[in-house]
Amino acid sequence: MTGRQIVAYIGIGSNLGDAADNVRNALLALAKLPSTSVTGLSSLFRTAPIDADGDDYVNAVARVSTSLSAEELLQALLQVEQDCGRERSYLNAPRTLDLDVLLYGDQVIATPTLTVPHPRMTTRAFVLIPLIQIDPFIQIPGQGAAHLFVPGVASQAIQKIA
Ligand code: ADP
Ligand code: MG
Repeated sequence: MTGRQIVAYIGIGSNLGDAADNVRNALLALAKLPSTSVTGLSSLFRTAPIDADGDDYVNAVARVSTSLSAEELLQALLQVEQDCGRERSYLNAPRTLDLDVLLYGDQVIATPTLTVPHPRMTTRAFVLIPLIQIDPFIQIPGQGAAHLFVPGVASQAIQKIA
């Protein structure tokens, strides 16, 4: 591998088809990304949709070490979504696979295609709980420790899948 390795966190979600299977396949796809290795993985969690239609979600978070740029990583994730058969039909429609860049090192990124840290990560139990399971003291650049946001999402149902 060339270039500087960055630790990034990827949010994974699915609520169409066999959602748990889709999440597991996404993990296999992450492990195959160029210049990237998966270094941490949360449990799978079942969560109720927020501002969205359809079945419950299965969510997880993966930690990767990558020398891809943030934009390259995003494009690779969007390709994995496509390969999983995702169609963008309408806002917050049920999706076979959603892959989000939650954190990319300690960088704060705001471009037309990419906002990092992910703007909604501090208000979603399905991000915070798996993230903290991997790294209990993970810091969100500019916002403090992720665990400080957990009390704010206590009303959101989230259940670890055995
Ligand atoms: P969401 O994940 O918010 O429900 P989508 O998965 O449909 O919505 O994402 C739509 C667009 O969001 C992507 O094409 C991408 O350019 C943009 N985007 C901005 N910031 C991020 C991020 N941190 N992770 C993933 N996508 C992002
Ligand atoms: Mg997304």
